[in-house]
Amino acid sequence: MAPSTRLSTSIGHRLLKLYRDLTPGQAKYHAREKYRWLRYTLRSAKRRARPLAVEIETNNSCTRTCSYCPRPPNDSTVLPEPLFRAVIDDLADWGFRGRISPHGYNEPLSDKRLPRLLEYVSTQLSHSPIVVFSNGDLLTRPVVEQLSQVGVTGFKLSVHEGSSAPQVNALHAFGSRYDRVSVSDYREDHRTEPMFNRGGLIAIDTPRHRQRCFDVEVAVVRANGDVVLCVNDPQKQHVMGNVGERVAAGSTTPFRDIWLEPSFVALRERIHAGDFELEICRNCSYGS
Ligand code: SF4
Repeated sequence: MAPSTRLSTSIGHRLLKLYRDLTPGQAKYHAREKYRWLRYTLRSAKRRARPLAVEIETNNSCTRTCSYCPRPPNDSTVLPEPLFRAVIDDLADWGFRGRISPHGYNEPLSDKRLPRLLEYVSTQLSHSPIVVFSNGDLLTRPVVEQLSQVGVTGFKLSVHEGSSAPQVNALHAFGSRYDRVSVSDYREDHRTEPMFNRGGLIAIDTPRHRQRCFDVEVAVVRANGDVVLCVNDPQKQHVMGNVGERVAAGSTTPFRDIWLEPSFVALRERIHAGDFELEICRNCSYGS
């Protein structure tokens, strides 16, 4: 057998052995982490420092209170539109091409400015996928069509606890009707897929603690302008900076100022390597 054939057979056997012992949900998670590791490694080799994706919470409202979501209560915090545009302008000037999603710990469709905001994203960041994550409570066909027209490339709808059968059917009907809409059932997925404990805030059975973390490569801007450590910091335990304060100080690169702050860059490097000095990271689990 040729050496290259022997090598690929050996890799194939090792992968089969690894994935044979995992549930489908765990295998999917494992494959996604490997993919992220590869992307991160290739990107590091090119010395690029942009985030993989940027999630911008435009307000602080949600239509639900799910037991597995440690979001703060609704309040009137709204990200000012000029600040939203300043972040997008900064990313455009930087050549960012990753995913943009208009959410944090909120329901993005509760923000009536969304079509206008996302049209601006699509104009400034024409290479970025724009993906709306939603619980679907406020979704209608006109909303899907209007947002698609302004540049939204995908909708990820999630079915949550407390949903009635007609609500669930309505979401699946969107998924069948529109190619760009996909639906996940959190109630089902959590039985088979790894579940996040949100940095230790949610108690889950048999937590699996991380050895490395690439979620820290997804940037999160909260509705008050705070850039927080990661998507698993809903209560803003680790704020790296505030884009509003940077703009007020005269910066035209408010997001980059924070993302490229040497102390934040160094912290992300240590987190990638599994050096979890922060308690939130030591408690962080991707479930069982
Ligand atoms: S390990 Fe730390 S940086 Fe990574 S997702 Fe968990 S809390 Fe966030």
